[in-house]
Amino acid sequence: MDKCLFCRIRNRKIPSLCVYEDKMVYAFLDINPVNEGHTLVIPKVHAADFLSITPSELPGLIWGVQKVAAAVQKGTRADGFNLIVNNFRAAGQLVDHVHIHIIPRFNGDGFQHWLGKPYEDGQADKVKEKIRTFLK
Ligand code: 5GP
Ligand code: ZN
Repeated sequence: MDKCLFCRIRNRKIPSLCVYEDKMVYAFLDINPVNEGHTLVIPKVHAADFLSITPSELPGLIWGVQKVAAAVQKGTRADGFNLIVNNFRAAGQLVDHVHIHIIPRFNGDGFQHWLGKPYEDGQADKVKEKIRTFLK
């Protein structure tokens, strides 16, 4: 995928600050970090989004994320971290090569979680059934 930005980064055609790489994953610092040490982990094989990762690629990616997340937390002396995967434009995905954000978090860093809103009567049951339809 010569036109894909993250394939080009993973192939070292575009420079990046790599923190880790193995057979399955490439991990590098986000150019525009939420907090210092904000890292992106990508599968080496191109997949546009989370739903496009093949079953053979997924375990290696998840293992890689766990390994890198532990190092990010230790290396930045963070109090916690968020793992975020934005999928499709509605969810804020800008780069179409799946990437897991590891965002180190610090007590009192001021970032807020999004606000939830309660279900209306009967709404939760309905949506539960709609989702289950696709898991049968
Ligand atoms: P998305 O919104 O697709 O989940 O996130 C894309 C992320 O990629 C953003 O956080 C952005 O800062 C990062 N990014 C975009 N272009 C580059 C780049 O050329 N190099 C690096 N290291 N990060 C990038
Ligand atoms: Zn790619």
